[in-house]
Amino acid sequence: MHAWEKQGMENVFPGFSDFASLDEIGPIVLSHGEGIYVVDVDGKRYLDANSGLWNNVAGFNHQGIIDALCAQAQRFPGYHSFFGRVADVTVELSQRLIALSPFEDGKVYYTNSGSEANDTMVKMLWMINRAKGEPGRRKIITRQNAYHGVTVATSSMTAKPYNAEFGLPLPGFLHADCPHFWRNGLPGESEDAFTARMARNLEDLIEREGPETIAGMFAEPVQGAGGVIPPSKGYFQAIRPILRKYGIPLIADEVICGFGRLGAMWGSDVYGIEPDAIIASKCITAGYYPMGAVILGKGLSDALMEASDRFGEFPHGFTASGSPLGSAVALKALDVIENEGLIDNVRALTPHFQERLQRFNDRPHAGETRGIGFMGAIEIVADKVTKTPFDSKIGISERIANKAIQNGLICRPLGASVVLAPPFIMTRAEMDEMFDLLEKTFDAVFAEIRA
Ligand SMILES: *Cc1c(COP(=O)(O)O)cnc(C)c1O
Repeated sequence: MHAWEKQGMENVFPGFSDFASLDEIGPIVLSHGEGIYVVDVDGKRYLDANSGLWNNVAGFNHQGIIDALCAQAQRFPGYHSFFGRVADVTVELSQRLIALSPFEDGKVYYTNSGSEANDTMVKMLWMINRAKGEPGRRKIITRQNAYHGVTVATSSMTAKPYNAEFGLPLPGFLHADCPHFWRNGLPGESEDAFTARMARNLEDLIEREGPETIAGMFAEPVQGAGGVIPPSKGYFQAIRPILRKYGIPLIADEVICGFGRLGAMWGSDVYGIEPDAIIASKCITAGYYPMGAVILGKGLSDALMEASDRFGEFPHGFTASGSPLGSAVALKALDVIENEGLIDNVRALTPHFQERLQRFNDRPHAGETRGIGFMGAIEIVADKVTKTPFDSKIGISERIANKAIQNGLICRPLGASVVLAPPFIMTRAEMDEMFDLLEKTFDAVFAEIRA
């Protein structure tokens, strides 16, 4: 092991890392990035097929965003946004976000991460409901496989088995079905019938718990960290009227889908979700500054203003949120995505991306390929007919991702799937390089497994 990598292990506690395999292969200590590649301290280049963590969509050294950050640092690098004080660039960003949003009017509340934004939204709903004289409306609905963050509340919303390690979820956090037709459809069930069953089960859950106890439902347009799971056909159209009927707001967690990942500004546009609020983060600064945002539509925004007036304030805020640096970076990142060709590139190359993804269907062990826009997954199975997964001890997707690293490709193992979410600046040639490397990796890993 090199000196850097040894030190990397000694005093850093990386998140979501498998220490046993880290002991074997060592951490990757990075020094810089060039376009869609990151470079480690030994000079080895990796094509990052995941845009960092879905967020570095303009690549790793975008000069325009770096210049915007530096210029704001010269002008006014840091201030808070408490007590009615706010930086001019943060005002500008808020106008921009409301104009970009599906809402005609509304307000933006800033945080430093997606987790904090979801957590903040939960507190907003609780405060609004108390002010409305419905203090019993506290339960939060999310869906199996959802990812909404890692704070105590948002871990409870993140419906993944690992949160049992913390004794979570907290009471009052309910997990509805995951609308993944390929995996959860019954034998002989049509996709329409499946969607209808998802909606029926949701209504049953609401009735069973009591609609007067439910504060809101949060949903990702496409489940991201759950393994890139687009909703079944007509899913949001089926659940929307049910939520309206029981007065339950729908919060779209657009932390991954927002700002172009699906080739549109919002996942909500793609699926006709009509959310009451949007949770944004990740691409909002193209990964160049920590920022999250709760974007409230008019209804919830008015309700929160009323609740705050009644108490005297909204007693909540993070020291560093609404930072002028983050706001300047976000304004530039949104410009780059919207007006400097990034979202256009996603649209132009989506057919090629999805076609190359689907080619994996011809291979053994590719159970399902799925995706939309610049978001794709290959779910690996031991048996394609029965959809039986590999024994979890094999860690098949981790094995593929580790082998990919040797080949100079960073891709993400999520459950039994290998996930691709490339930067929006990726060229067609780079896309071919990515898929060629992944095909080579698959061949090598399955040859090893057969041997
Ligand atoms: C990443 C993510 C979050 C959490 O964001 P952090 O900035 O990591 O706290 C929340 N929701 C979704 C859909 C995400 O993908």
